[in-house]
Amino acid sequence: MEQNKLHVAIISSPGMGHLVPTLTLGHRLATHHHLEVTILAVMTETSPAETRILTTLNDSNHINLVKIPLPDISNLLHHDDAVVTQLAVMMREARSGIRSAISAMNRRPHILIGDLFSSESLPIADEFRMQKYVYVPCQARFVALTVYLHVLDKEVNGQYVDQTEPLRIPGCEPVRSQDVPDPMLDRFNRQYYEYLQMGINFATLSQGILINTWGDLDRTTLDALKYNKNLQSIVNVPVYDIGPLTRAVDLVDSNENRVIKWLDMQPVESVIFVSFGSGGTLSASQIIELAWGLELSQQKFVWVIRPPIGSLNDGTFFTSGSGPDAPTGFLPEGFLDRTRERGLIAPLWAPQVKILNHQSIGGFLTHCGMNSFHESIRGGVPMIAWPLYAEQRINAALLTEQLGVAVRPATLPTEKEVGREEIEKMVRTLMESEEGKMMREKVKILRLSADEALSIKGSSYKSMCEFISCCEMKMKSL
Ligand code: UDP
Repeated sequence: MEQNKLHVAIISSPGMGHLVPTLTLGHRLATHHHLEVTILAVMTETSPAETRILTTLNDSNHINLVKIPLPDISNLLHHDDAVVTQLAVMMREARSGIRSAISAMNRRPHILIGDLFSSESLPIADEFRMQKYVYVPCQARFVALTVYLHVLDKEVNGQYVDQTEPLRIPGCEPVRSQDVPDPMLDRFNRQYYEYLQMGINFATLSQGILINTWGDLDRTTLDALKYNKNLQSIVNVPVYDIGPLTRAVDLVDSNENRVIKWLDMQPVESVIFVSFGSGGTLSASQIIELAWGLELSQQKFVWVIRPPIGSLNDGTFFTSGSGPDAPTGFLPEGFLDRTRERGLIAPLWAPQVKILNHQSIGGFLTHCGMNSFHESIRGGVPMIAWPLYAEQRINAALLTEQLGVAVRPATLPTEKEVGREEIEKMVRTLMESEEGKMMREKVKILRLSADEALSIKGSSYKSMCEFISCCEMKMKSL
């Protein structure tokens, strides 16, 4: 190992949605910028999907992996604590494990990058004379909102969701009250304070914020974060737009052969892919409406199906992709027989990146998770935006209103069940209408702009180089 090669340690918080972006960032830094990279992966019980992705990582030889086991935190959490509270507590308690892991390394890293939930670990970098950064794999408006929240906290009275006026952040598109992320839904819930503190930490504990986005996706907000004096005085540190970093390879998966073989036999852009991320689940009656909507649309589909919320095996955020088979008894009677020629059910998990890049795929019904919507854009696939949790409503707003690459239901799916007729209409719009065709063209232009941003002369590549040279300069001056 060259002694002057920068060594970066990246902290990953639990859950596939966090592991995927940190591994992808690490892979990019190692393969395109030739840095030494160590992932410090804080893990609860390792889910089957996480095990598969870590095996893929070990096989790739590009990055080092250190697993940080979690101490028992059951006495620090209430059974009804929200995911953000759970993650904040987990990551707070993981700090001693992170510190020990760094201290045990033969070659001490020069830079510590914390993911969205790891900002409280950044002061550990000071103990080892490391530089410290935050990596947020979300759109820029989410970053602006998070960092600006402590100002809104003073300015806005009452609950954000009850505001009639959208929330204003200097230089950014306003955020409608119905699009605010989950932790802002209730100002009396503990997760609100955890989230508010995260935003303060980004600006006060880090030396810069890396965002997994690019100019053509997020131009207005990126300009505001970088150049708007009122917002810059709050953000306070440099912002680097380095995305979209998405996984190039998929996990080896039990459903893979069956799904890909089936897709190989379908006409170009004729199939809609339906999936709600690593942990998204629907109610039993919503699953029935979705099944009917797909059937009535007469379109071809691949559907990653999970048991309904509240059933014995419903998906949870931390145990994604558990097991090869899922019962399908909760589907409408006769559905599987009637759709045998047109549809394919993939129980629990499917190779999403491969599917979205398959030529037969013409649409994606997605929960708008940050990885999923990037993967869809990079596959050139327009979407039906069906946000469920976290910051997905603001993602849905970006994809529909700002970029015009998705349709969405009239009412939020978390507020009102989406009926079969509306689902049928959205699927038909996406797959067979002029409007759908235009969205497909727009998303393909966006895909090109993403490729360009990541190419050697592109904005994201340059931004990453700037970040690295800034780190090198600081390292020399230490
Ligand atoms: N994923 C997958 N197959 C599935 C479900 C999810 O490969 O059946 C991957 C997906 O490609 C993405 C990640 O898991 O990379 C999910 O991340 P996202 O941010 O979209 O959603 P989250 O799971 O965090 O809600």
